[in-house]
Amino acid sequence: MSILVTGGAGYIGSHTAVELLNAGEEIVIVDNLINSQIETIDKIKQITGKDFKFYQVDLLDGENLQKIFEENSDIESVIHFAGLKAVGESVEKPLEYYKNNLIGTITLLETMRKYNCKKIIFSSSATVYGEQVSVKYVETMKRGETTSTYGTTKAIIEKMLEDIYFADNSWNISILRYFNPIGAHDSGLIGEDPKGIPNNLMPFIMKVANKEIDHLNIFGNDYDTKDGTAARDYIHVVDLAKGHLKALEKLNSEKNGLYVYNLGTGTPYTVQEIVDTFKKTNNIEVPYEYTERRAGDLPIFYADPTKARNELGWVAEKNIEDMCKDSWNFVKTTKQK
Ligand code: NAD
Ligand code: UDP
Repeated sequence: MSILVTGGAGYIGSHTAVELLNAGEEIVIVDNLINSQIETIDKIKQITGKDFKFYQVDLLDGENLQKIFEENSDIESVIHFAGLKAVGESVEKPLEYYKNNLIGTITLLETMRKYNCKKIIFSSSATVYGEQVSVKYVETMKRGETTSTYGTTKAIIEKMLEDIYFADNSWNISILRYFNPIGAHDSGLIGEDPKGIPNNLMPFIMKVANKEIDHLNIFGNDYDTKDGTAARDYIHVVDLAKGHLKALEKLNSEKNGLYVYNLGTGTPYTVQEIVDTFKKTNNIEVPYEYTERRAGDLPIFYADPTKARNELGWVAEKNIEDMCKDSWNFVKTTKQK
């Protein structure tokens, strides 16, 4: 039996592919490489010593997606990472984001149904909580008002999956809401390497530390947090990847259902703490300045990870030093040869 990994050449998908292969699972990866490199596929093979099929196919291309299911009739489940994810860009290009993320997912779900493959894990995000009264997000909270087109695509897909399960409970669905993934595989071979100027904190810090950008702007130092900078629940990407294996185990062992889990550590760290830890752990300079708050940013939010711990037996094991060390190791390994 094999697992189809959509977006498996991307940041979280590649780390999950490694964990799946290391656990002895068979996988097939589909990715159109719009935000990733073909080399990552070889790196996954290099790290694991395992082989698998890779298809460079766009999820909107239903015909070629069907061919993947025809050629791999043992596909039993899907882990669906593929999607566009840049928050700022999504606000500038809403149509592109709705088309790619929604039509891509609909085409995938239609194809799955056609081949009677009804087990799916979906990459959602803490962004679906929107602004809440409590900043410790728990799965029992209702989805909130999303603040970007990207967030809206996640909320719509979650709702779509709920409706699909309601209509046909032979589907078996796990929605995973990620908090802030950072870090990289400890081999240094795979990690996050966005094209152009990064939007997210850790990729930006890495470019500054690597002297590709001269300084980091810390967006706001007047929030009501311990040091005035905004706080998030950063999670090591390998811990996050392992969460998918646990979610899959649950789908394979329990009766059909629709399950929602937060994947976070439960501990928020401020931007200042991340910068200071990165500098100290790696013994490297990261020049920064405090600037205006970024529009749409919340002061603080983090996961209540209790449900994933109780129902999946999953807890994040790596700490903030590991995250900073492994992020930098990826840059040193790949860019400073
Ligand atoms: P990523 O961009 O590195 O990986 C996504 C992959 O999907 C890329 O390799 C891209 O080429 C591929 N892709 C995009 N559209 C496609 C399409 N139409 N057909 C085929 N392939 C397509 O992003 P990531 O950080 O690995 O994120 C994976 C998933 O997790 C995404 O759905 C993202 O929204 C979600 N997520 C990410 C974060 C984060 O901070 N990284 C947080 C919450 C949720
Ligand atoms: N951040 C920052 N400078 C940057 C990028 C991000 O100060 O160049 C801050 C941002 O304001 C937020 C935190 O870092 O408080 C995490 O931002 P990121 O974009 O990585 O994640 P998200 O906003 O999705 O939580």
